[in-house]
Amino acid sequence: MHEYWIRPVSPEAHLFEVRLQVRTPDPTGQQLALPAWIPGSYMIRDFARNLVTLTATSGGSPVVVEKLDKQTWRCAPCSVPLLLVYQVYAWELSVRAAHLDTTHGYFNGTSVFLQVCGQEAMPCRVHIASPKGQGYRDWRLATSLRPVDAPFMGFGTYEAESYEALVDYPVEMGKLTLLETEVKGIPHRMAISGKHRADTDRIARDLSAICTEHVEMFGGTLPIDQYLFLVLAVGDGYGGLEHRDSTSLICKRDDLPRHDEGEPGQGYRRFLGLCSHEYFHLWNVKRITPEAFRPYDLSREVHTRLLWAFEGITSYYDELALVRSRCIGVDSYLELLGQTVTRVIRGSGRRKQTLTESSFDAWTKYYKQDENAPNAIVSYYAKGALVALALDLTIRIGTDGARSLDDVMRALWQDYGRTGLGVPEDGVERLAEEASGLDLGDFFQAYVHGTEDPPLERLLAEVGIGLGLRPARSLEDFGGRRKLGDVEPPLRPGLGAQIKVGSHPPEITVVPDASPAQAGGLAPGDQLVAVDGFRATADNLAGLVGRLRPGEQVPIHVFRRDQLHRLSLTARLPSADTCELWLAGKPGEERLARRRAWLKLAD
Ligand code: ZN
Repeated sequence: MHEYWIRPVSPEAHLFEVRLQVRTPDPTGQQLALPAWIPGSYMIRDFARNLVTLTATSGGSPVVVEKLDKQTWRCAPCSVPLLLVYQVYAWELSVRAAHLDTTHGYFNGTSVFLQVCGQEAMPCRVHIASPKGQGYRDWRLATSLRPVDAPFMGFGTYEAESYEALVDYPVEMGKLTLLETEVKGIPHRMAISGKHRADTDRIARDLSAICTEHVEMFGGTLPIDQYLFLVLAVGDGYGGLEHRDSTSLICKRDDLPRHDEGEPGQGYRRFLGLCSHEYFHLWNVKRITPEAFRPYDLSREVHTRLLWAFEGITSYYDELALVRSRCIGVDSYLELLGQTVTRVIRGSGRRKQTLTESSFDAWTKYYKQDENAPNAIVSYYAKGALVALALDLTIRIGTDGARSLDDVMRALWQDYGRTGLGVPEDGVERLAEEASGLDLGDFFQAYVHGTEDPPLERLLAEVGIGLGLRPARSLEDFGGRRKLGDVEPPLRPGLGAQIKVGSHPPEITVVPDASPAQAGGLAPGDQLVAVDGFRATADNLAGLVGRLRPGEQVPIHVFRRDQLHRLSLTARLPSADTCELWLAGKPGEERLARRRAWLKLAD
């Protein structure tokens, strides 16, 4: 068994100190490595760059350590236990790394625990200590690592069955709020770090309903004996990372529910959606796992064309579960769905990159997006969710309601999740056909391997939901649900470019393909100083362009870097790139029944 000791040795300097004892080092020289990436976040992060000092001893004598590459070390041969001592600088406030100051500590094993190369299958024991000093006496600890000798939520000794397991249990320490609930008799906890005034009873109730919905969908039993949501509440932030029986989340503290929260507002809905998303991963990706990830090679990029299924299907169910569990209403769900459609159709990149390509190139494209991303790539999350919706409705319609995507997910769980076999690259397609009994070859060819838009207008009509497109009314307009009595404002020309929030003068961030901005020669980074000879500001820009007549040409002035340029803008009415959904007035019995079954609504 490998033994690790970790201590926040200097919260002021953001340093953890780690000791690792290797009982039986490789007699030819033990190699040690730190991962280049963390499962669930497909980007090379080179965690080894934060390792500050490293020394090795054996029987009290120093052992020579040689660096082999950016993340691998080799110790000189030694026979008795090898002891490594090193410090890790922890100052990245994200769910993917490690962070430490005088208010809290957080780490993923991938940032702090060296891998004993060749002995990864051995169990690991980890002793976690609190920082020294009076100020830290009320710190508690939250992790779903298995305690061996530690009080509930306390510092002490924990265990994991292997290195891969060890790095799948994030640890949070500090002043924590704990809330507890049960799902199918299994304890589910949430530890919130950071100041907040949230209604924790409300969170517990809603979480319980959402988690229960996911468990029911996967057949009614849970493959875990506990689950932990680690939440860091901050002023501004958003993110989550899935683990086998826990998740790390960062959210705005204002997204947590107020004590008088009624139907969840946008913020709380976003928080519940995040919890729902990561919990669904407990099955989809943590246990139903692409073959390419069995086992994870954490030293380099690992490619799969299936991320659309693991992230897109998860994104579909994360919101669907909110309405199925009654945490949000149908109107609220349509709003979320309409906004996702808008996000997807506004990017011309969806015509150039398929979902399988987007999955494969996640490392260098989705995770490294620049100003041209909307013109070059498609999100396997957003389009993946729409394809999942289309697949679900296609199966429901094609089988007269006898089968659905739920059956496909249960089949994936039976064949791959329960057995521990990896999903082959064609596995999702094959099981979708098997579980539905339908020939879905054309479907996958067009929307997954091809760049076609899924036919959502036609499919949603079959569940009594209307879909329409209209031009955006403002820069903040992402569509959603059509509200009764909405009056269409008069259509006015726009730039069609995205502007950096709060920039003075307005700074262009994204220039979409075929927009008036692109035709006029505007580029990302340009500072727009005048339109038609009038000074442009963030406040008046829409008005300056909006008062032009369609077809009219006017001069615009921009600073590109330090040079003033005179360009020419041809005014044009905006295109219909904003989606709205609505419940059809009289959809008919069959469509109504289909909608009820899909959203699990009462008659
Ligand atoms: Zn995800």
